[in-house]
Amino acid sequence: MAISDNTVKLLWGRAAGICSNPGCREDLTVLLEGIRGFNVGEMAHVIASSPTGPRGVAGGGSDEYENLILLCPTCHRTIDKAPSGTYSTETLHLWKRSHEASIRSNGMAKIFQNSEELKKHITFLLAENHALWATIGPQSSVAKTDPGSNMNEIWTLRKLDTIVPNNIEIINTIGANFRLLSKAEIYLFFLFKNHAKAFEQHQYTRLDNYPLFPQEFEKAMQP
Ligand SMILES: [Zn+2]
Ligand SMILES: [Zn+2]
Repeated sequence: MAISDNTVKLLWGRAAGICSNPGCREDLTVLLEGIRGFNVGEMAHVIASSPTGPRGVAGGGSDEYENLILLCPTCHRTIDKAPSGTYSTETLHLWKRSHEASIRSNGMAKIFQNSEELKKHITFLLAENHALWATIGPQSSVAKTDPGSNMNEIWTLRKLDTIVPNNIEIINTIGANFRLLSKAEIYLFFLFKNHAKAFEQHQYTRLDNYPLFPQEFEKAMQP
């Protein structure tokens, strides 16, 4: 058995490419530079595949999402080399659960005083998404001039670690501050939300078509 591409994508995306150890939180996107395929590497087993490995049990642990946690190389080494019992199965599941929940709820607690500040923040997040798309997306010059490179894999993972989490933060932030927007702006926001939900789903299960990014929303968010 090996870890499937879809499992890698799920783990990477839900953790937003960040080490799940609450005391670390290292940005792992730097590791993507030399990847081949979806072999990002630091998908640590909660229960080792070998019965005698870290936290091993008879029969060994699976290569499925449920038994993996995204860590940086240092934390991966630390938890696997520590004396047995230091990092329990429960501890690692707790790290993973809280880290993924914090990505999901990012932005919910951000309260803005006026629409200008809110829009500045939304524009900042949209600009990061746009810049990433323009630099390494399918329309970028790198993708067009070097189609044999690993750009496609990198782009797939960067959508998951940056664009999807930024979209989640936009949805949560506007959800917590909608009182600062006009009715027309809220309508555009819901168009964006429909797009973002389908876009995320599309990363894991290809959809035949989904609502495109509404350009009017980006314009409306300009402070
Ligand atoms: Zn390991
Ligand atoms: Zn770490």
